[in-house]
Amino acid sequence: MQVAVFSTKSYDQDSFEAANQDFGHELTFFEVGLGPKMARVARDYEAICAFVNDDLSAQTLETLAEGKTRLIAMRCAGFNNVDLDALKDTGLKLVRVPAYSPHAVAEHVLALLLTLNRKTHRAYNRVREGNFNLEGLLGFDIYGKTVGIVGTGKIGVITAKLFQAFGCRVLAYDVQENPEVLEAGIEYVKLGQLFRESDIISLHCPLVPATQHLIDGTSLAQMKDGVCIINTSRGGLIDTQAVYRALKSGKVGLLGLDVYEEEAGLFFTDHSQRIIQDDLFMRLTTFPNVLITGHQAFFTDNAIRNIADTTLQNIRDFEEKGCSANEVAAKA
Ligand code: NAD
Repeated sequence: MQVAVFSTKSYDQDSFEAANQDFGHELTFFEVGLGPKMARVARDYEAICAFVNDDLSAQTLETLAEGKTRLIAMRCAGFNNVDLDALKDTGLKLVRVPAYSPHAVAEHVLALLLTLNRKTHRAYNRVREGNFNLEGLLGFDIYGKTVGIVGTGKIGVITAKLFQAFGCRVLAYDVQENPEVLEAGIEYVKLGQLFRESDIISLHCPLVPATQHLIDGTSLAQMKDGVCIINTSRGGLIDTQAVYRALKSGKVGLLGLDVYEEEAGLFFTDHSQRIIQDDLFMRLTTFPNVLITGHQAFFTDNAIRNIADTTLQNIRDFEEKGCSANEVAAKA
């Protein structure tokens, strides 16, 4: 099938070209992101492969549907950037990669937390400069802490078990209980209790209207002073202004972000020679107790391989059978 692959980096091209040896699709790679303008080019392709910050709004989807495009193949799990109403109206099909390496994301939660807590990033620089002073490097034992996991799907359950292995008390919240969580002896609680009792909160639910700004001024007020919040899910789960204020007041003690509300146009690109215009983001990067990574939690060699294999298989399934097990249902 003819596939236009958008927002590509060298590693995308490498992994897709290697995996495509087994599929034989006609792949064309575009470094630019997909949006209403690029849709005028993309509409000449039967399938579009898009990523987390591509703009799949109604205008983009309508333009694609007016051309040859029949399939949108997301090479990620989330699809909050796709207008599902417009998808239904246009008749385009949407497939995704529901799981490529949930371990990669869960392990990145620990990378963020351990770095923030034990300040290894600062120690690295100090030691290189011959400064062995320990002032400012004080951390805490994760052992014995209460950890709240919001969203106990594929990534949440692995994260919860990792924290169990650290000797933490793990509390879980989800709109749907996962038997694997219960089997692990983890307790489901109401969201308010999770907010009140957790020392560390890790977010693993999707960004949907019900979870937009789940962490806002009201929920922050319920949390322990000095709470640690880690978000590897989607930026929109956090009201960044509210968390910024909570960092300044000390309510939030540590903040680890792999995703950011306004990351589109910022992440995945080198802006080091430009002036970044997002003042809130730049202010956050000056806080010693904030660690931000640019949506890299998924970024392991296993995950990249799985993403390419599953995406190309999804496209083959659509081409051969007209459907895929990884199809996202358009709105009823
Ligand atoms: P999943 O679908 O397996 O699990 C999501 C869980 O959230 C489900 O158990 C669901 O019931 C729960 N949920 C839905 N609505 C909820 C609500 N209102 N409150 C609480 N829980 C709710 O998804 P997953 O594969 O575990 O991924 C979780 C998140 O991680 C997704 O948002 C995904 O986009 C994100 N993600 C980020 C990266 C990264 O690189 N940073 C990589 C992969 C996935």
